[in-house]
Amino acid sequence: MRPARRRQGKDIPHSMDNGKVYLVGAGPGDPGLITVRGRQLLDECDAVVYDRLVPLELVVSLPARVERHYVGKISGKHALDQSQINELLAQLARQGLKVVRLKGGDPLVFGRGGEEALHLKECGVPFELVPGVTAGLAASACCGIPVTHRGRSVQVIMVTAHEAPDKQELQVSWDWLAQSRGGTLVGYMGVTQLPYVVERLLAGGMDPATPAAMIERGATPRQRIVSGTLVDLPRRVQEAAISPPALFIIGDVVALHRELEWVQPGVMAGLKVMVTRPSDQAGEMYALLRGLGAYVLPCPTIATREQDDQAAWEALAPLFGERTPHPPGWLILTSENGVRYFLKQFLKRYDYRALAAFRLAAVGAGTDRELAARGLKADFIPSRATTEALGRELAARMAAEPSGPVLRVRGNLGDDHVERALASAGARVHVLPVYATFTASWDAGLHTHLDRNPPDVITFTSGSSCSGLVDLLGSDRARELADRALIASIGPTTSRVIREAGLKVDLEAETHSVPGLVAALEQHYRASGAAPR
Ligand code: SAH
Repeated sequence: MRPARRRQGKDIPHSMDNGKVYLVGAGPGDPGLITVRGRQLLDECDAVVYDRLVPLELVVSLPARVERHYVGKISGKHALDQSQINELLAQLARQGLKVVRLKGGDPLVFGRGGEEALHLKECGVPFELVPGVTAGLAASACCGIPVTHRGRSVQVIMVTAHEAPDKQELQVSWDWLAQSRGGTLVGYMGVTQLPYVVERLLAGGMDPATPAAMIERGATPRQRIVSGTLVDLPRRVQEAAISPPALFIIGDVVALHRELEWVQPGVMAGLKVMVTRPSDQAGEMYALLRGLGAYVLPCPTIATREQDDQAAWEALAPLFGERTPHPPGWLILTSENGVRYFLKQFLKRYDYRALAAFRLAAVGAGTDRELAARGLKADFIPSRATTEALGRELAARMAAEPSGPVLRVRGNLGDDHVERALASAGARVHVLPVYATFTASWDAGLHTHLDRNPPDVITFTSGSSCSGLVDLLGSDRARELADRALIASIGPTTSRVIREAGLKVDLEAETHSVPGLVAALEQHYRASGAAPR
């Protein structure tokens, strides 16, 4: 990863040499449909400038050092106009930043990417164009409609159905399109204009029985398709209350949809599930939920920051090393983050052999998994997955057998059950904080997305993820969202915090882990029948 070249310390003058803008297609809505090149640029960039139709997960999961600029519509406010966006891109590049301009679908298909590139060219800012999967092709593929097909379609025309109010703009030749045979017409931005478009095509001589469909949110778990014939499509679209983003497809290939439809709706099909976990630890949960057909709302309410206290490490130095004190001590790890940050800091200074003086005590499924991923195994796991049980049971064990020093690794939050129980059992406890948890910050893009997509389910995988939501939204708004949703908690400690915040708990996982929580949701929706859309 490259460090950002500015805003670290004092203002350093930057040459424009390194600044560059990458106009990247984010694909149609599924975060998996960005190109490998696009993903790689996101991983390396210093700033991202993005629109409303970009899958939020791509932005939310960027490291904190990446500047985020949301330039899409914001409810009740003016969005930036195109010239302001052009200028923002040039400005960021002039500061020497590697900028990803992330756009829904393909940046050059009704995406105004060409205008942005021309502006950059005029300003002498280098740029690169990275194509994406455009919505028309993705939505048709995800509904089993091949846009070309032997004997049915030898041409594809992509058209914008949005009539520009400015009469100087080019106009679509609907009459000409109505006359063309043996092709597929893909219409972007056409929900409100559909009746007009159909009227023009019929007036131009297109067969009223031509197969036609409208696809809403294609290639996402909330995809819906309405199909019929050209003449009855507007009525069907209205009855189904299709809303943007949606596009229409007209042509004989649409009939293949019935035979080639392949998307299997999962048990949570179309449900909007808010995930409040820190974004750098949420990938697995996003994927599991998506596997059940859920539409993930990535809303990390907390984040963690490493705390590497050099003085504390120096003071602990006598505990690490080849000379194994007899009897061995205990290294206590109670969270996934504890393992991650502790080992990162430890391995900067030592290697694993320097842990020989310790046995490992751990609590929690996430902690175990993180240890296992690094080839480590806990020697002691309490009978219940709480820090209280760990403190009590380990204290009992230490009373029965002699023990060396205890190293308790932790973050800044949570209880001190472990250190208190062990100290009162006579152990010498060293406490080493290795990270801090804080409330995440949300940009306008995230707030807007949540306003437009209120969750059906809200998940909490820690007490702090719930407190974080209340901090970010205020308790009234948090309660308003929670009242309309099913609240799912990872376990009793988290549930307690949720209730203390004045919210209800509808579902608590039996196995207190991310897969356990997702399994509980799956079971719930399987039992309650089809999920609503
Ligand atoms: N550059 C984008 C298009 C931007 S124009 C691309 O290449 O896909 C915005 C229009 O795209 C919307 O009005 C809608 O017609 C269409 N669109 C975008 N995402 C869509 C989706 N997931 N399903 C259906 N239509 C979509």
